[in-house]
Amino acid sequence: MQCPACSVELLEENINIQTDVARCHACKNVFKISEQVGKYVPPSFDITKPPEGVTVNQGTHSLELGTSLRSLAGCFLVPFSIVWGGLSIGGIYGTQIVTGEWDIITTLFGIPFVLISFFLFGLAMLAVFGRTSITLDSNGGTVFTGIGNTGYRRSFTWDLVTDVSIKTTYTSKGYPNKSLVIQAKKKVTMGSGLKEDKLTYFFNAVYSIWKKRKEHIV
Ligand SMILES: [Zn+2]
Repeated sequence: MQCPACSVELLEENINIQTDVARCHACKNVFKISEQVGKYVPPSFDITKPPEGVTVNQGTHSLELGTSLRSLAGCFLVPFSIVWGGLSIGGIYGTQIVTGEWDIITTLFGIPFVLISFFLFGLAMLAVFGRTSITLDSNGGTVFTGIGNTGYRRSFTWDLVTDVSIKTTYTSKGYPNKSLVIQAKKKVTMGSGLKEDKLTYFFNAVYSIWKKRKEHIV
């Protein structure tokens, strides 16, 4: 663990997990260990013991850690997207389909509604059937978000990773949203909206492998 003030590596005797207090021998900074979640990996972390709902698949040369994106929101999003899409597309194109007369202005006007409907429906499907995973090997990793084999993939190579952390962003209404951020040539994020224990597990896994690799190179 590093001191949040001066980044010096802390001495073991100055870290007290029971009282949740750590002290830096260099700058005398005293801070709560629990506030450092997402910045260090506890020594008790075991990659083979994920929290409930996270699966670990050990391949010959890689490790895949994954979890479902199923959420309560999906239960609302599915009917909502169907009703929303049905009403807007039906309202705009319904009369044209029934009468067989196409009006170019109405047709163009409806295109954004069709796109939003597809987008909403896609989100709803993700929230019910979606999965996110990270596959790690000796070169780097790939984050996947999607359904089955169809989805979005973002890759990084270990050599280019400069930071692994849990970052908090805020929505326009001020709600916090945490995600795992792997800073490489491109920023790779994962786990936005996941439960805290799952997100912490993904962070611990990626961070500890990254740290180990760095120590071997140095
Ligand atoms: Zn310090």
